[in-house]
Amino acid sequence: MDCLFCKIASGTVPSARVYEDAHAVAFLDINPNNPGHTLLVPKDHARNILDIKEETLCAIMPALKKLSRAVKDAVDADGLNIAMNNEPAAGQIVLHAHIHIIPRFTTDGHRHFEKRPYKDAGEMNAVAEKIRTALA
Ligand code: AMP
Ligand code: ZN
Repeated sequence: MDCLFCKIASGTVPSARVYEDAHAVAFLDINPNNPGHTLLVPKDHARNILDIKEETLCAIMPALKKLSRAVKDAVDADGLNIAMNNEPAAGQIVLHAHIHIIPRFTTDGHRHFEKRPYKDAGEMNAVAEKIRTALA
């Protein structure tokens, strides 16, 4: 498969790798939101959260925790955003599942997603009911 992050994980394509274990690699994002922006990438190819195996997701969580502390300390950040873009509509460009670890600074000026309130409690409850049904 012609997948950039599979190639980075296998070492065929170079990266600024900061971490590797049996399940994942992590390397610096080439176009960071802030210096230290790191991508945690499972070695087992999945497109995104919608098809990743539960066992893969669980296996990479310890690395997410470890990297979060290390990235924050390394760049002396004030906080972190942990993000995952899933499908192009959500901003996913590289179609191999990955988790962004983004250092944040009180002065960095980045804005958060715009919020839009429900028009009323009825709309909110209807959406909640649809999600409960989808889970059943
Ligand atoms: P996403 O929009 O969630 O698919 O994010 C993909 C990320 O991969 C972007 O933030 C890119 O800057 C980053 N990226 C693309 N190519 C490379 C590369 N060769 N090495 C490191 N990061 C990359
Ligand atoms: Zn891949």
